[in-house]
Amino acid sequence: MRPLPCSLAPLPDETLTGFVLRLAHRLGTTPAEIALRTGLAPGGRPGLPTRFPLSFQHHLDDAHLTGFARATYLTPTEVTDMLLAPLGQRYGPLDPVFTPRNTPARMIYDDPWVLTRSTRYCPPCLAGNVTPIQDRHGGPWQRLWRLPVIFLCVRHRRLLSHQCLGCDMRAQSARTASALARISDDALNPRQCRSAQVRSASTEQPAAACGADLTQQGPLHEEPDPATMKVLLHVQRHLANLIAVGGPETTMSAGAPVPVWHYFADLRTVVAMIFRTWPEARPYSSTPPWPPRSTRNTPPAPRRPSPCSRPPARRRPPSLTPRRRRTPWPWAQSWTSRPSSSQQRSRMKRESSWPRLCSGCAMTTARSASTCVALPGSRRQ
Ligand SMILES: [Zn+2]
Ligand SMILES: [Zn+2]
Repeated sequence: MRPLPCSLAPLPDETLTGFVLRLAHRLGTTPAEIALRTGLAPGGRPGLPTRFPLSFQHHLDDAHLTGFARATYLTPTEVTDMLLAPLGQRYGPLDPVFTPRNTPARMIYDDPWVLTRSTRYCPPCLAGNVTPIQDRHGGPWQRLWRLPVIFLCVRHRRLLSHQCLGCDMRAQSARTASALARISDDALNPRQCRSAQVRSASTEQPAAACGADLTQQGPLHEEPDPATMKVLLHVQRHLANLIAVGGPETTMSAGAPVPVWHYFADLRTVVAMIFRTWPEARPYSSTPPWPPRSTRNTPPAPRRPSPCSRPPARRRPPSLTPRRRRTPWPWAQSWTSRPSSSQQRSRMKRESSWPRLCSGCAMTTARSASTCVALPGSRRQ
C-alpha cells in the first residue's frame, strides 16, 4: 500500500468515517478515492468503490488495519482508536462476549444499542475548535455520538442533533448499506449534509446533495428547561464517565457494585421494562414529560410514526411466563443473575428464555427489534 501524499492527525474520539471525510476534503478528492488508496475498498475489487462497508466502522482485520495505517501515516493503535469495537471493553452491547452476535458484522447490523446507519452530533463540536485545520475541514465526527446512551453534549450543554433540518434526513445516513453517503462526491465539506436531494419525479435523478451546513442548525426541539437540563447533565456525565477510557471499573447497580459492562446490561434491561410497562414508570421520572406538549407536533417532525402512536391493543401486558424466542438475549437475565465467569455468562446466553422484546417499543409482537421503527439503529431508518 503506497502512502498518500499527506495525511491528517486524528482528532480526539474521531470515527474512521469522519477521518476519511476530512482526509478526502484536505486532498481535494472523494471518499471513494481515499478508500481505494488506503485499502478499504470492499472485497478488494478494482476500481472506485461505490460504498463504504458499515462493518469498517466497527472493526478492521489486520490486513485492512495495517494497510490503512501505512497509507495514512498513522499507527495501528491510532486507527484502532477510531473504531467502535474498542468501546466494547466498557460498553457491553459492543462486547461480543456478552451478546449472541459473534461476528463483527452481526455486532452492528440492526443493533439498536449502536447507531450504525446514522449518527447524532453536536453542531458546535462539529464546527471545530477554531484551529486552522478544523476551520477548513471541521471538527471530529465523534465515536461516542454513535452510542444511544450519549444524548447530550456536556461541553455545550445541549441535546445532540440527529437529523438535518434542511432535508429531514438523519445525519450521515445513506440509502444503501454504506457508512458514507455520496462516496464519490468531492464537493462537500465534512460538515455538510451528504443526503441526496429529494427527487421531484421518479425519472429525475437526485443530482445534488442537500449540502446544508450542519454546524449552523439550531436544536430540533425546544431545549429542556433548566431543572430538566440539570438532571440530564448529571445522567449524561455519569454515563460518559463510565464509558471513558480510564473510567471506574465498577459502579452501583440495583444497590450493589457491578462491573461497568454489567451496568449497561442492567440499563438495557431496565429500559426495555420501562418501555414495555409504560406509563407505569412515569411517576418515578426525575423530569417532566419532554418535549413539551405544545411543541410535540410542530414541524419539523420525524417522518416515521412514533411508537406511542401505535394502537394500544397491540401492547401486551407484562407477563412473568417465559416464552420462546429466536435468539438468546442475555441482557434480560443479567439484571437478576449476575454471571461471575465467562463460562457462566455463556451458559446464561444459551439458557436465556425471556420473551423477545424490542428495545425501542418493548413490544413482543412479531415485529422484531431489527425492524422496529422506534429506534435510530433500526433497519427502517
Ligand atoms: Zn458540543
Ligand atoms: Zn440535509
